[in-house]
Amino acid sequence: MLTSETILKTTFGYDTFKPLQREIINNVMARRDTLVIMPTGGGKSLTYQVPALMLDGLTVVVSPLIALMKDQVEQLRALGVSAVFLNSSLSPEEYQTNMDSVKSGRSKLLYVAPETLLTPRLFSLLSSLKLDLLAIDEAHCISEWGHDFRPEYRQLVDVRRKFPSAVCMALTATATPRVRTDIMSSLGFTQSNEFLASFNRENLFIEVTPKKDPISQTLSFLQNFKDQSGIIYCFSRRQVDELAATLARYKFSVRPYHAGLEDGERKRNQEAFIRDDAQIIVATIAFGMGINKPNVRFVIHFDLPKSVESYYQEIGRAGRDGLPSHCLLLYSYGDAGKIKYFIEQKEEPERSASYQHLEAMTRYAEGSICRRKPLLSYFGETYSQENCGTCDNCGAEPSSQTDITIPAQKFLSCVKRSGEKFGAGHIIDILLGSENEKIQKYNHQTLSTYGIGRELTKSQWMHISRQLVERGLLNQEPAYRVLSVTARGLEMLKSREQVKGQINEAKRSERSGARIKSTSAEEAEYDKSLFTLLRNKRKDLADASNVPPYVIFSDKTLVQMAAYFPQDKDSLLNMSGMGRVKYERYGADFLTIIKEYCRENKIEEKYKSPMREKDDAGRRYMAVGEAYNAGESLENLMARYGVTADTILNHLARFMMAGNPLRSAEDLIALSKLTPDQQQKVFIAFDELGADMLKPIHEKLNATVNYDELKILRLCYLCEKN
Ligand code: ADP
Ligand code: ZN
Repeated sequence: MLTSETILKTTFGYDTFKPLQREIINNVMARRDTLVIMPTGGGKSLTYQVPALMLDGLTVVVSPLIALMKDQVEQLRALGVSAVFLNSSLSPEEYQTNMDSVKSGRSKLLYVAPETLLTPRLFSLLSSLKLDLLAIDEAHCISEWGHDFRPEYRQLVDVRRKFPSAVCMALTATATPRVRTDIMSSLGFTQSNEFLASFNRENLFIEVTPKKDPISQTLSFLQNFKDQSGIIYCFSRRQVDELAATLARYKFSVRPYHAGLEDGERKRNQEAFIRDDAQIIVATIAFGMGINKPNVRFVIHFDLPKSVESYYQEIGRAGRDGLPSHCLLLYSYGDAGKIKYFIEQKEEPERSASYQHLEAMTRYAEGSICRRKPLLSYFGETYSQENCGTCDNCGAEPSSQTDITIPAQKFLSCVKRSGEKFGAGHIIDILLGSENEKIQKYNHQTLSTYGIGRELTKSQWMHISRQLVERGLLNQEPAYRVLSVTARGLEMLKSREQVKGQINEAKRSERSGARIKSTSAEEAEYDKSLFTLLRNKRKDLADASNVPPYVIFSDKTLVQMAAYFPQDKDSLLNMSGMGRVKYERYGADFLTIIKEYCRENKIEEKYKSPMREKDDAGRRYMAVGEAYNAGESLENLMARYGVTADTILNHLARFMMAGNPLRSAEDLIALSKLTPDQQQKVFIAFDELGADMLKPIHEKLNATVNYDELKILRLCYLCEKN
């Protein structure tokens, strides 16, 4: 029998299990009934799909949603696994074909709707077979206490009784204790085990921001998500229609979705979103159930959700594939008023309950502690980490209210010296020492403030400029946005009084990308142009076989291709989600694109760990590392290989990252030209941001330390940490 690891790698193309998957699979294989509670995106499906491939007999999966069944079956087929479904959407012929496929043993997995499973026809089919595993998806539907009770689910216990030798799994993302016990007692679980995964979704960046000018806030948010899928939730149908129309005017590819649309149109809009034909769906909360799209990169709440629970469920639709995704709530207390109006129409005790839910929601939105704390405590979990690094309240903390006196002075005096006749854009050009026409025309390269602001980026200066206006140090004339220094600003310049404010670390998309722990440095810096080419190919292949693009490959698989540039079969098989069958079907197509792209742009393959090295040059880092450890000096090594110090440092870094310790940092630290004080600053930055990527460090230090220095200090840092 194949092991679960082998199946995970060869069929699904994954290297490691997600939390609890292995334990769950082992429990099922030991023939113990199993209750699985995992958040959306936790990887529930795999916990019955892997056993299904290990067991001789049939696995039946009960699922309440026809759309999801079809989706799962398509995904399994793309992996080369024979699976079928039976439900009321099939024609009599299709139904028969699928029945035959199960009967003959060709299909190892059968997906059914509960009402179908209870029919005599299916009972007799199953009686003629060996039923090994009965997996009940969305198992909370069995409980009257759940939010989605389905009476048919109650009768599933009859199926269990008829097939006592089959082991039973119940899976859900609903965690309340009451629903849990209800599931186990309704299904007659006795010797069962329960697996409860954490509901923390590390890859979601969670942000709440005051709703001021929601349309422009949305537009500016969307700038960071060009061509990427997302959902915008609104309170009312009218709001959905209006916002969708507005976004369409701004040339976004967008569709509305709400219960007021005619059935056909609603279906078409949903389908367009799933197939990546429409980038954005603007929807009421009716949208989302039964959507399995893994590459939703953002969820915006344009209006306030009614409860924390529904909010968490809605943001949970982002980032199922585990890649960084952004959730933004535009919060205004006024929205709570709209909801209250509806609550008032309800009867008791529902009314009081709704008030409590709303109250919890506004408390959450106005809170200033880590967003994960209240969210997870809602699900009975304690989040003990001090700073999650991926919510607005945590992300804002380290950089909030730093001393910005120096940049403020530079900016104000530049406004003053250029005669208070220009907008922020031109002032920043002067500070950055730009050589454009307007600078020449006004002879601004001769100003004493010309080029004195190169330590910050353009967007950081913009941010500072806005803060100065906000604090009343600058005045912005509305028509032409010309800046002038106010009396208070002049005062500040003279008195050298301290100004506190924020310096942006980086753009939002960079920030959420850079801080995600589950994404490696290479993957965070994947090649966007190659990604686009690969995505287009995926879309063509998907359309040709009439399936959603994610059935072909997940975004994660494409991101890895665009980060590591695999050049041959072995390397390609090393990408996450690249199973054997997918390689055979699509490997050649994607390899061609990657190789051509690399040739044109002179890019070399990067090796993904576990490192596979082929030639001598590729293994040189080992030789260099070993020689260094044997006591050779850097100069000697440079001379021996005829390379620069930089190359030797790269070899040593690779040597260390491959898990080999390095003798000491003494020789290395001697290469650094910084003062000990400055070096400490860099080390502190490594402590805070990790040592995987240098760019965030560079920015954190306001570009005061160059990359060569950072490379040296990173080695010292890693050396000392080991
Ligand atoms: P759930 O049903 O719990 O919402 P899914 O089963 O749909 O979650 O899995 C979410 C995503 O994670 C899918 O894209 C799936 O392919 C992926 N996935 C599942 N297990 C693994 C794993 N071990 N390694 C990497 N990706 C995984
Ligand atoms: Zn946080």
